[in-house]
Amino acid sequence: MARHLSTRIRLNPDPAQEVALRQIAGCCRLVYNLGREQRRDFWRQYRAAEGRSLHWMGQKKELPALKEAAPFLADAPAHCLQMALQDLQRAFDNFYAGRAGYPQPRRKYEDDSFRFPDPAQIRVDPRAGLLVLPKFGRRAGDHGAIRAVFHRPIRGRIRSVTVSREGRHWYASILLERREKAARPDPAPITAADVCGIDRGTVVPFMDSEGLARGHAILPARGSGEAKRRRRLEQALARAKKGSKRRAKVRLKLAAHRAREARRRRDMIEKVTTEIANNHRVVVIENLPVRSMTASARGTVEDPGANVAQKAGLNTAILDKGWGMFRIRLEQKLALRGGRLIVVPAAFTSQTCACCGHVAAESRVTRDLFRCVSCGHEAHADLNAARNIRDRGLALLGLAPSARIERPAAGMVVAVC
Ligand SMILES: [Zn+2]
Repeated sequence: MARHLSTRIRLNPDPAQEVALRQIAGCCRLVYNLGREQRRDFWRQYRAAEGRSLHWMGQKKELPALKEAAPFLADAPAHCLQMALQDLQRAFDNFYAGRAGYPQPRRKYEDDSFRFPDPAQIRVDPRAGLLVLPKFGRRAGDHGAIRAVFHRPIRGRIRSVTVSREGRHWYASILLERREKAARPDPAPITAADVCGIDRGTVVPFMDSEGLARGHAILPARGSGEAKRRRRLEQALARAKKGSKRRAKVRLKLAAHRAREARRRRDMIEKVTTEIANNHRVVVIENLPVRSMTASARGTVEDPGANVAQKAGLNTAILDKGWGMFRIRLEQKLALRGGRLIVVPAAFTSQTCACCGHVAAESRVTRDLFRCVSCGHEAHADLNAARNIRDRGLALLGLAPSARIERPAAGMVVAVC
């Protein structure tokens, strides 16, 4: 089985190299945004007549002409410019398939990234701490190999390298292909005790059906100094005059702040998913359409949405916890260990009593407390939901709900049903 995985390394470019990296990112961003406009205009004018939209292979052929009009584009490796168009194709494919919104223009500081697709032109030297890429150490007289921090061995065949800026730092994500034996599933039959349900919440990121809350200790609390700092930066950015030096400074600070948040979230997701995958053969989660849940409640001028502020707060909370990434990483890690992820419908998991099955919105007393109006069963609301999710998974597997395993976690009230 060929497995793809990527390793991210921190780059330490010298000042001249950093200027070159920024220029390449700028060229790729320009090509991406021009390609996007071209697609949009083509669609508006010719869609009805031609019955098709543009494809990146066609746009790629126009790159030489574009380079003649804008000679500075020649400073960027041709492959990287082509990959920008391929990324654009993927963004449109995702849009057409309903997986994402209409592709947005790439913005400076926020989407500074480009990809080297040809393994023959890439060389990594972990011992010397060097990364060789086209225009960087490939030929005498170019910008020279980039110094990098390799914190783990590079095993497998290199497929591509993506260079990106996050805040003040540059990173390279090395995509590797490894041949590995597929994990053999445990031959013992799956019993109810092997199945774990997980509820994803906005206060406790992940709560499992055994009453164990995960992830909350790794993220900074809402309303903490970190959150305040971010708000201050956002306000300062709104106040700064467009095109001013101050604005550029604040933007960089804000980008650094967001990058730190993203690193923290990734770290949390990796730790939590590894722990869950190590300890459970079957994990059940609910199918949450993250995109529609995070869509703004603002509505339109004719039809203004309700609870705009509340929804906006919830949006940040949901995105903060990185649900989409959680599902992807958990599925991958379970597969490697011969385990399995089951996704069940999410409807009413928070309003159903895990004990008697009664469904009532009134049973959800507060954000944290569930008290069944029919049988009086009382539990942490997230735990109650996690049990419903597990039971839906069990039903799919044809198993009866297990005798409940009660394991009170520190600081948690667990009611025995
Ligand atoms: Zn009940």
